[in-house]
Amino acid sequence: EDERLRLPPWLKTKIPTGKNFSRLKDQLRNLNLHTVCEEARCPNIGECWGGGEHGTTTATIMLLGDTCTRGCRFCAVKTSRAPPPPDPNEPVNTAAAIAEWGLDYIVLTSVDRDDLKDGGSNHFAETVRQIKKRNPNIMVECLVPDFQGDVEAVKVVVESQLDVYAHNIETVERLTPFVRDRRARYRQSLSTLKAAKSFNPELITKSSIMLGLGESDDEIQQTLHDLKEVGTDCITLGQYIQPTKRHLKVVEYVTPEKYKYWEEIGTEMGFLYVASGPLVRSSYKAGEFFIASILK
Ligand code: SF4
Ligand code: SF4
Repeated sequence: EDERLRLPPWLKTKIPTGKNFSRLKDQLRNLNLHTVCEEARCPNIGECWGGGEHGTTTATIMLLGDTCTRGCRFCAVKTSRAPPPPDPNEPVNTAAAIAEWGLDYIVLTSVDRDDLKDGGSNHFAETVRQIKKRNPNIMVECLVPDFQGDVEAVKVVVESQLDVYAHNIETVERLTPFVRDRRARYRQSLSTLKAAKSFNPELITKSSIMLGLGESDDEIQQTLHDLKEVGTDCITLGQYIQPTKRHLKVVEYVTPEKYKYWEEIGTEMGFLYVASGPLVRSSYKAGEFFIASILK
C-alpha cells in the first residue's frame, strides 16, 4: 500500500507566464545552457524567471556534471564513487552563455565532488571570474558543497568575486545523519559558513532548511540560532517533497501559515532576508530577495 501523505492543495503549481519568462526562454534556445529550473521542472520557474517587483530574474545552473559522490536520502541525483572528470572548458563556456543570456542573478551549484582534491572549488571560482569578466553586472551566487570542511576550498570560492556564498544545512542537527549523506555533518556545514564569513565579512552568506522531515519547532529554532551564530545573513525554508518511492518519506506537510510564522521569527532574529513557503527552494527568487534586502 502507499503510505505517502496526500499532496495538499498549496503544493499544486501554476503554469509559468509573463514577459520576462518568455523572453528568457526564447533567448535560452540559442545558447548551449541547461538550467536546473527547466530540467528539474521547478514549479517556481515563472516567478524566478519573471523577476517580480524589482524585475530581478534568477536561474540556477549545475556545474561539475550530473553524478554525485554522495547519496543523501532526500535527493534524486545519481551517485558514483568515481564520476567522470569535470569538463575543463565548462567555466568558460558556461560563463559565455550566461553573459549572453539576459539574466540578472545566477545561482551556480554542483553535485558533491569528494573525488576531486579541491572539491571543485576552483571550477566554481573560475566560472564566477569568467562571468564577471564578461558582465560584472550579473549577480552570482555559489551554492556549494561542504568541501568536507576544507576551509582552503571555501576561501577559493570566497575570493572569486561572487556576491553570495550559499551552503545548505538542509535539516536540524538530530535528523542530519538520517537525511544527508553520512559524510555531511551539521557542525561541519556550520563551520564552512563561518569560514566563508571570516574570509570576507562583507560577503553575504546564505543557507536553507527543508521542513516536513519530522523536526520539532524547537529544533528549527535551534538551527536558525546556530546559523545566525556563524554569521549567516539569509535563510530559506521550504517543504521537503519525496522525489521517488525509494527516498525518505514526508512526515508532515507544513502549512503556509507555519511558513509565515518562521518568516516572522527569522526576521525578528535579524536575518537580512527570510524566504519561507511551501514551494520555496534555496534559489527561489534569490535575485529579488537580494535586491530587496540591499535596498532596505
Ligand atoms: Fe530555478 Fe531555483 Fe527558481 Fe527553481 S527555485 S526556478 S531551480 S532558480
Ligand atoms: Fe544530492 Fe547534494 Fe546530497 Fe549529492 S550532496 S546527494 S547532490 S543533496
